[in-house]
Amino acid sequence: MTLRYPDIFPGFVCTGSACEDNCCKMGWDIEIDENTLDYYRSLDTDLGRRLCGNIYEEEGCFYMSQPDGCPFLSGEGLCSVQQACGAEHISEICREHPRFYEWFGDYKEAGLGLCCEEVSRLVLTHERPLLFTEKQTDEPDDDLEFDSGILAAVKDLRDRLIDVAQDRGFTLLQRLVILAYCAEDIGEAMYGEDTERLRQLSGMLAIDGFRMEIVIQAQQDAAEAAKSHEKGRTKEQLTKHMLHMFSSMGYMGKLGKSFDRERFSVEKILGAEKKFSGEYAPYQYELENVLVYFLYRYLIKSVRDYSAEEHLLSAVYLTLGLRWLFLKEYAESGSLPDIGRRIFLAKEFSKEVEYDSDNMDIIYDTIQQDTAVRDTLRGLCM
Ligand code: SF4
Repeated sequence: MTLRYPDIFPGFVCTGSACEDNCCKMGWDIEIDENTLDYYRSLDTDLGRRLCGNIYEEEGCFYMSQPDGCPFLSGEGLCSVQQACGAEHISEICREHPRFYEWFGDYKEAGLGLCCEEVSRLVLTHERPLLFTEKQTDEPDDDLEFDSGILAAVKDLRDRLIDVAQDRGFTLLQRLVILAYCAEDIGEAMYGEDTERLRQLSGMLAIDGFRMEIVIQAQQDAAEAAKSHEKGRTKEQLTKHMLHMFSSMGYMGKLGKSFDRERFSVEKILGAEKKFSGEYAPYQYELENVLVYFLYRYLIKSVRDYSAEEHLLSAVYLTLGLRWLFLKEYAESGSLPDIGRRIFLAKEFSKEVEYDSDNMDIIYDTIQQDTAVRDTLRGLCM
Protein backbone atom coordinates (compact mmCIF):
# COMPACT_ATOMS: atom_id res chain seq x y z
CA MET A 1 0.00 0.00 0.00
CA THR A 2 1.22 3.48 -0.85
CA LEU A 3 0.32 5.93 1.91
CA ARG A 4 0.25 9.68 1.24
CA TYR A 5 0.10 12.20 4.07
CA PRO A 6 0.90 15.86 4.84
CA ASP A 7 4.18 16.62 6.59
CA ILE A 8 2.38 17.58 9.82
CA PHE A 9 0.82 14.09 10.06
CA PRO A 10 3.60 12.16 11.83
CA GLY A 11 4.17 14.95 14.37
CA PHE A 12 0.61 14.94 15.72
CA VAL A 13 0.22 13.94 19.36
CA CYS A 14 -3.08 14.37 21.21
CA THR A 15 -2.51 16.78 24.09
CA GLY A 16 -4.99 14.80 26.22
CA SER A 17 -5.51 16.33 29.64
CA ALA A 18 -3.94 19.63 28.46
CA CYS A 19 -6.54 20.02 25.68
CA GLU A 20 -8.91 22.92 26.29
CA ASP A 21 -11.65 21.57 24.05
CA ASN A 22 -11.39 17.82 24.47
CA CYS A 23 -13.14 16.05 21.58
CA CYS A 24 -14.51 13.47 24.05
CA LYS A 25 -16.68 16.23 25.56
CA MET A 26 -18.39 17.24 22.31
CA GLY A 27 -21.36 14.90 22.62
CA TRP A 28 -20.74 13.60 19.09
CA ASP A 29 -22.17 10.19 18.09
CA ILE A 30 -19.24 7.85 18.68
CA GLU A 31 -19.56 4.65 16.68
CA ILE A 32 -18.38 1.49 18.41
CA ASP A 33 -16.94 -0.95 15.87
CA GLU A 34 -17.81 -4.64 16.00
CA ASN A 35 -14.47 -5.90 17.38
CA THR A 36 -14.54 -3.36 20.20
CA LEU A 37 -18.17 -4.16 20.98
CA ASP A 38 -17.36 -7.90 21.12
CA TYR A 39 -14.50 -7.17 23.50
CA TYR A 40 -16.71 -5.02 25.78
CA ARG A 41 -19.37 -7.75 25.80
CA SER A 42 -16.75 -10.32 26.77
CA LEU A 43 -15.71 -8.30 29.85
CA ASP A 44 -17.17 -9.74 33.04
CA THR A 45 -16.36 -6.60 35.07
CA ASP A 46 -18.15 -3.49 36.29
CA LEU A 47 -16.47 -1.49 33.53
CA GLY A 48 -17.67 -3.99 30.90
CA ARG A 49 -21.22 -3.80 32.20
CA ARG A 50 -21.13 0.03 32.32
CA LEU A 51 -19.74 0.14 28.78
CA CYS A 52 -22.43 -2.18 27.40
CA GLY A 53 -25.11 -0.26 29.32
CA ASN A 54 -24.03 2.97 27.59
CA ILE A 55 -24.05 1.60 24.06
CA TYR A 56 -27.16 1.83 21.91
CA GLU A 57 -28.03 0.51 18.45
CA GLU A 58 -29.34 2.55 15.54
CA GLU A 59 -29.91 1.14 12.04
CA GLY A 60 -27.53 -1.76 12.65
CA CYS A 61 -24.70 0.41 14.04
CA PHE A 62 -23.67 0.80 17.66
CA TYR A 63 -22.93 4.11 19.40
CA MET A 64 -21.75 5.32 22.78
CA SER A 65 -24.50 7.29 24.47
CA GLN A 66 -22.92 10.59 25.51
CA PRO A 67 -25.20 13.62 25.28
CA ASP A 68 -22.95 15.53 27.72
CA GLY A 69 -19.66 14.07 26.54
CA CYS A 70 -18.12 10.64 26.99
CA PRO A 71 -19.04 9.16 30.40
CA PHE A 72 -15.68 7.36 30.45
CA LEU A 73 -13.59 10.54 30.37
CA SER A 74 -11.72 10.80 33.68
CA GLY A 75 -11.56 13.93 35.80
CA GLU A 76 -8.03 14.48 34.42
CA GLY A 77 -9.41 14.54 30.87
CA LEU A 78 -8.07 11.06 30.01
CA CYS A 79 -9.86 8.01 28.61
CA SER A 80 -10.57 5.62 31.50
CA VAL A 81 -11.28 2.75 29.08
CA GLN A 82 -7.84 3.19 27.49
CA GLN A 83 -6.25 3.39 30.95
CA ALA A 84 -7.98 0.19 32.08
CA CYS A 85 -7.94 -1.92 28.89
CA GLY A 86 -5.24 -0.40 26.63
CA ALA A 87 -5.46 1.70 23.45
CA GLU A 88 -6.12 -1.42 21.37
CA HIS A 89 -9.50 -1.81 23.10
CA ILE A 90 -11.00 1.61 22.51
CA SER A 91 -13.21 2.05 19.46
CA GLU A 92 -11.41 2.63 16.17
CA ILE A 93 -12.84 6.14 15.80
CA CYS A 94 -11.58 7.11 19.29
CA ARG A 95 -8.15 5.66 18.48
CA GLU A 96 -7.89 7.41 15.10
CA HIS A 97 -9.62 10.78 15.66
CA PRO A 98 -8.71 13.42 14.41
CA ARG A 99 -6.94 11.42 11.69
CA PHE A 100 -8.92 10.75 8.49
CA TYR A 101 -8.29 8.35 5.61
CA GLU A 102 -9.39 7.63 2.03
CA TRP A 103 -8.71 4.27 0.36
CA PHE A 104 -8.33 3.46 -3.35
CA GLY A 105 -7.11 -0.12 -3.82
CA ASP A 106 -3.39 -0.11 -3.08
CA TYR A 107 -3.34 3.67 -2.49
CA LYS A 108 -4.38 5.40 0.73
CA GLU A 109 -4.44 9.01 1.85
CA ALA A 110 -4.23 10.19 5.45
CA GLY A 111 -4.65 13.58 7.09
CA LEU A 112 -5.53 15.39 10.29
CA GLY A 113 -8.90 17.06 10.90
CA LEU A 114 -8.88 20.78 11.67
CA CYS A 115 -11.59 20.43 14.36
CA CYS A 116 -8.91 19.35 16.85
CA GLU A 117 -7.18 22.27 18.60
CA GLU A 118 -3.75 20.65 18.32
CA VAL A 119 -4.21 20.07 14.58
CA SER A 120 -5.42 23.64 14.19
CA ARG A 121 -2.23 24.77 15.95
CA LEU A 122 -0.06 22.60 13.65
CA VAL A 123 -1.82 23.93 10.54
CA LEU A 124 -1.80 27.61 11.47
CA THR A 125 1.80 27.71 12.71
CA HIS A 126 3.29 25.90 9.66
CA GLU A 127 5.01 28.83 7.93
CA ARG A 128 6.46 26.89 5.00
CA PRO A 129 4.06 25.51 2.39
CA LEU A 130 2.54 22.19 3.49
CA LEU A 131 4.23 19.28 1.75
CA PHE A 132 2.91 15.80 1.06
CA THR A 133 4.94 12.62 1.34
CA GLU A 134 4.38 9.02 0.31
CA LYS A 135 5.64 5.81 1.88
CA GLN A 136 5.02 2.09 1.48
CA THR A 137 3.16 0.16 4.18
CA ASP A 138 2.21 -3.51 4.47
CA GLU A 139 -1.52 -2.80 4.82
CA PRO A 140 -3.59 -5.02 2.48
CA ASP A 141 -5.37 -3.47 -0.54
CA ASP A 142 -8.85 -2.05 -0.15
CA ASP A 143 -11.55 -3.69 -2.31
CA LEU A 144 -14.01 -0.77 -2.83
CA GLU A 145 -14.42 -0.01 -6.54
CA PHE A 146 -13.12 3.13 -8.22
CA ASP A 147 -11.91 4.25 -11.66
CA SER A 148 -8.11 4.31 -11.66
CA GLY A 149 -8.02 6.73 -14.65
CA ILE A 150 -10.22 9.22 -12.75
CA LEU A 151 -8.10 8.80 -9.61
CA ALA A 152 -4.90 9.63 -11.55
CA ALA A 153 -6.55 12.67 -13.20
CA VAL A 154 -8.02 13.98 -9.91
CA LYS A 155 -4.70 13.55 -8.08
CA ASP A 156 -2.88 15.40 -10.83
CA LEU A 157 -5.45 18.19 -10.92
CA ARG A 158 -5.53 18.51 -7.13
CA ASP A 159 -1.70 18.81 -7.07
CA ARG A 160 -2.04 21.73 -9.48
CA LEU A 161 -4.83 23.37 -7.45
CA ILE A 162 -2.68 23.03 -4.33
CA ASP A 163 0.18 24.63 -6.30
CA VAL A 164 -2.12 27.57 -7.03
CA ALA A 165 -3.18 27.76 -3.37
CA GLN A 166 0.52 27.87 -2.39
CA ASP A 167 1.60 30.36 -5.06
CA ARG A 168 2.84 33.16 -2.80
CA GLY A 169 3.40 35.41 -5.80
CA PHE A 170 -0.33 36.13 -5.52
CA THR A 171 -2.35 37.34 -2.54
CA LEU A 172 -4.56 34.78 -0.87
CA LEU A 173 -7.68 36.38 -2.40
CA GLN A 174 -6.12 36.25 -5.86
CA ARG A 175 -5.37 32.54 -5.39
CA LEU A 176 -8.97 31.98 -4.32
CA VAL A 177 -10.26 33.84 -7.35
CA ILE A 178 -8.16 31.64 -9.68
CA LEU A 179 -9.70 28.54 -8.08
CA ALA A 180 -13.22 30.01 -8.28
CA TYR A 181 -12.81 30.89 -11.97
CA CYS A 182 -11.73 27.43 -13.07
CA ALA A 183 -14.23 25.47 -10.92
CA GLU A 184 -16.98 25.32 -13.57
CA ASP A 185 -14.68 23.88 -16.27
CA ILE A 186 -13.33 21.34 -13.80
CA GLY A 187 -16.86 20.38 -12.73
CA GLU A 188 -18.00 19.86 -16.33
CA ALA A 189 -14.96 17.75 -17.21
CA MET A 190 -15.46 15.68 -14.08
CA TYR A 191 -19.16 15.00 -14.66
CA GLY A 192 -18.30 14.08 -18.25
CA GLU A 193 -15.56 11.73 -16.91
CA ASP A 194 -13.34 13.56 -19.40
CA THR A 195 -9.89 12.73 -18.04
CA GLU A 196 -8.21 14.27 -21.08
CA ARG A 197 -9.88 17.64 -20.37
CA LEU A 198 -8.99 17.36 -16.66
CA ARG A 199 -5.35 16.83 -17.63
CA GLN A 200 -5.56 19.77 -20.02
CA LEU A 201 -6.96 22.05 -17.29
CA SER A 202 -4.28 20.84 -14.93
CA GLY A 203 -1.62 21.70 -17.55
CA MET A 204 -3.07 25.18 -18.05
CA LEU A 205 -3.12 25.86 -14.32
CA ALA A 206 0.58 25.05 -14.17
CA ILE A 207 1.33 28.08 -16.38
CA ASP A 208 2.05 31.30 -14.46
CA GLY A 209 0.71 33.43 -17.32
CA PHE A 210 -2.60 31.57 -17.26
CA ARG A 211 -3.01 32.25 -13.54
CA MET A 212 -2.20 35.92 -14.12
CA GLU A 213 -4.70 36.11 -17.00
CA ILE A 214 -7.47 34.90 -14.68
CA VAL A 215 -6.57 37.47 -12.03
CA ILE A 216 -6.58 40.27 -14.63
CA GLN A 217 -9.92 39.04 -15.97
CA ALA A 218 -11.33 38.95 -12.44
CA GLN A 219 -10.11 42.51 -11.81
CA GLN A 220 -11.77 43.71 -15.03
CA ASP A 221 -15.03 41.93 -14.14
CA ALA A 222 -15.01 43.48 -10.67
CA ALA A 223 -14.29 46.96 -12.07
CA GLU A 224 -17.12 46.63 -14.59
CA ALA A 225 -19.57 45.43 -11.93
CA ALA A 226 -18.61 48.38 -9.71
CA LYS A 227 -18.96 50.86 -12.58
CA SER A 228 -22.37 49.61 -13.63
CA HIS A 229 -23.55 49.27 -10.00
CA GLU A 230 -24.81 45.87 -11.12
CA LYS A 231 -27.62 44.79 -8.85
CA GLY A 232 -26.41 42.42 -6.12
CA ARG A 233 -22.79 42.54 -7.27
CA THR A 234 -21.21 45.03 -4.86
CA LYS A 235 -18.78 43.58 -2.33
CA GLU A 236 -21.19 44.50 0.42
CA GLN A 237 -24.10 42.67 -1.18
CA LEU A 238 -21.98 39.63 -1.99
CA THR A 239 -20.69 39.53 1.59
CA LYS A 240 -24.26 39.65 2.90
CA HIS A 241 -25.05 36.76 0.59
CA MET A 242 -22.20 34.71 2.09
CA LEU A 243 -23.21 35.68 5.64
CA HIS A 244 -26.77 34.62 4.92
CA MET A 245 -25.51 31.14 4.02
CA PHE A 246 -23.33 30.78 7.13
CA SER A 247 -25.98 32.26 9.44
CA SER A 248 -28.60 29.78 8.20
CA MET A 249 -26.52 26.94 9.68
CA GLY A 250 -26.97 25.33 13.09
CA TYR A 251 -24.29 26.04 15.75
CA MET A 252 -23.66 24.43 19.12
CA GLY A 253 -21.72 27.43 20.46
CA LYS A 254 -21.49 31.17 19.88
CA LEU A 255 -19.81 31.12 16.47
CA GLY A 256 -23.07 31.61 14.56
CA LYS A 257 -23.36 35.15 15.98
CA SER A 258 -20.31 36.17 13.96
CA PHE A 259 -22.28 35.54 10.78
CA ASP A 260 -25.55 37.11 11.90
CA ARG A 261 -25.58 40.46 10.10
CA GLU A 262 -28.31 41.84 12.35
CA ARG A 263 -25.64 42.03 15.08
CA PHE A 264 -23.02 44.16 13.32
CA SER A 265 -22.48 46.54 10.45
CA VAL A 266 -21.16 44.71 7.37
CA GLU A 267 -20.22 48.10 5.88
CA LYS A 268 -18.05 48.93 8.89
CA ILE A 269 -16.29 45.58 8.80
CA LEU A 270 -15.63 45.82 5.07
CA GLY A 271 -14.35 49.34 5.67
CA ALA A 272 -11.49 47.79 7.65
CA GLU A 273 -10.70 45.13 5.04
CA LYS A 274 -7.90 47.01 3.29
CA LYS A 275 -6.04 47.66 6.54
CA PHE A 276 -6.69 44.10 7.67
CA SER A 277 -5.24 42.68 4.42
CA GLY A 278 -2.08 44.74 4.93
CA GLU A 279 -1.58 43.74 8.55
CA TYR A 280 -2.52 40.11 8.00
CA ALA A 281 -0.28 39.76 4.89
CA PRO A 282 2.68 38.25 6.82
CA TYR A 283 0.37 35.52 8.19
CA GLN A 284 -1.41 34.62 4.94
CA TYR A 285 0.23 31.19 5.13
CA GLU A 286 -2.32 30.32 7.84
CA LEU A 287 -5.31 30.61 5.51
CA GLU A 288 -3.20 29.17 2.69
CA ASN A 289 -2.71 26.02 4.80
CA VAL A 290 -6.41 25.93 5.66
CA LEU A 291 -7.26 26.16 1.94
CA VAL A 292 -4.75 23.40 1.14
CA TYR A 293 -6.27 21.28 3.90
CA PHE A 294 -9.75 21.57 2.37
CA LEU A 295 -8.47 20.91 -1.16
CA TYR A 296 -6.43 17.88 -0.08
CA ARG A 297 -9.17 16.39 2.05
CA TYR A 298 -12.24 16.89 -0.14
CA LEU A 299 -11.17 17.07 -3.82
CA ILE A 300 -10.15 13.40 -3.72
CA LYS A 301 -13.75 12.47 -2.86
CA SER A 302 -14.74 13.45 -6.40
CA VAL A 303 -13.12 10.19 -7.60
CA ARG A 304 -16.26 8.55 -6.25
CA ASP A 305 -18.91 11.30 -6.18
CA TYR A 306 -17.74 13.29 -9.26
CA SER A 307 -18.59 16.54 -7.41
CA ALA A 308 -15.27 18.27 -8.10
CA GLU A 309 -16.83 21.71 -8.58
CA GLU A 310 -18.73 21.45 -5.28
CA HIS A 311 -15.62 20.38 -3.38
CA LEU A 312 -13.50 23.09 -4.98
CA LEU A 313 -16.01 25.91 -4.40
CA SER A 314 -16.73 24.73 -0.86
CA ALA A 315 -12.96 24.95 -0.13
CA VAL A 316 -13.08 28.56 -1.34
CA TYR A 317 -16.23 29.32 0.69
CA LEU A 318 -14.82 27.76 3.87
CA THR A 319 -11.55 29.67 3.56
CA LEU A 320 -13.48 32.91 3.04
CA GLY A 321 -15.69 32.06 6.02
CA LEU A 322 -12.70 31.71 8.34
CA ARG A 323 -11.12 34.85 6.89
CA TRP A 324 -14.36 36.68 7.67
CA LEU A 325 -14.03 35.68 11.35
CA PHE A 326 -10.47 37.09 11.45
CA LEU A 327 -11.53 40.27 9.61
CA LYS A 328 -14.57 40.83 11.83
CA GLU A 329 -12.54 40.60 15.03
CA TYR A 330 -9.92 42.91 13.51
CA ALA A 331 -12.56 45.49 12.54
CA GLU A 332 -14.20 45.37 15.95
CA SER A 333 -11.07 45.53 18.09
CA GLY A 334 -8.75 47.50 15.82
CA SER A 335 -6.05 44.83 15.97
CA LEU A 336 -5.47 41.35 14.64
CA PRO A 337 -6.75 38.56 16.87
CA ASP A 338 -3.60 36.94 18.29
CA ILE A 339 -2.38 33.56 17.10
CA GLY A 340 -4.05 31.73 19.99
CA ARG A 341 -7.35 33.30 19.07
CA ARG A 342 -6.87 32.54 15.34
CA ILE A 343 -6.16 28.89 16.19
CA PHE A 344 -9.30 28.84 18.35
CA LEU A 345 -11.42 30.34 15.55
CA ALA A 346 -10.07 27.85 12.98
CA LYS A 347 -10.83 24.93 15.30
CA GLU A 348 -14.31 26.23 16.16
CA PHE A 349 -15.12 26.94 12.52
CA SER A 350 -14.08 23.43 11.49
CA LYS A 351 -15.94 21.84 14.40
CA GLU A 352 -19.15 23.78 13.81
CA VAL A 353 -19.24 23.91 10.02
CA GLU A 354 -16.93 21.33 8.45
CA TYR A 355 -17.69 18.57 10.96
CA ASP A 356 -21.45 19.11 10.83
CA SER A 357 -22.81 17.27 7.80
CA ASP A 358 -26.07 19.31 7.84
CA ASN A 359 -24.05 22.54 7.67
CA MET A 360 -21.84 21.19 4.89
CA ASP A 361 -25.02 20.22 3.00
CA ILE A 362 -26.09 23.88 3.17
CA ILE A 363 -22.83 24.84 1.42
CA TYR A 364 -23.20 22.09 -1.19
CA ASP A 365 -26.89 22.98 -1.78
CA THR A 366 -25.97 26.66 -2.17
CA ILE A 367 -23.32 25.74 -4.73
CA GLN A 368 -25.72 23.49 -6.64
CA GLN A 369 -28.87 25.62 -6.49
CA ASP A 370 -27.73 29.23 -6.47
CA THR A 371 -27.14 30.11 -10.11
CA ALA A 372 -25.14 33.21 -9.07
CA VAL A 373 -22.82 31.32 -6.73
CA ARG A 374 -19.78 31.51 -9.03
CA ASP A 375 -20.19 35.27 -9.47
CA THR A 376 -20.64 35.63 -5.72
CA LEU A 377 -17.44 33.77 -4.95
CA ARG A 378 -15.42 35.54 -7.63
CA GLY A 379 -16.67 38.91 -6.42
CA LEU A 380 -15.91 38.07 -2.78
CA CYS A 381 -12.30 37.30 -3.66
CA MET A 382 -11.71 40.75 -5.19
S1 SF4 B 1 -9.32 17.69 20.37
FE1 SF4 B 1 -7.36 16.86 19.64
S2 SF4 B 1 -5.85 17.35 21.24
FE2 SF4 B 1 -7.92 17.61 22.13
S3 SF4 B 1 -8.38 15.63 23.12
FE3 SF4 B 1 -9.23 15.54 21.04
S4 SF4 B 1 -7.60 14.64 19.74
FE4 SF4 B 1 -6.66 15.30 21.70
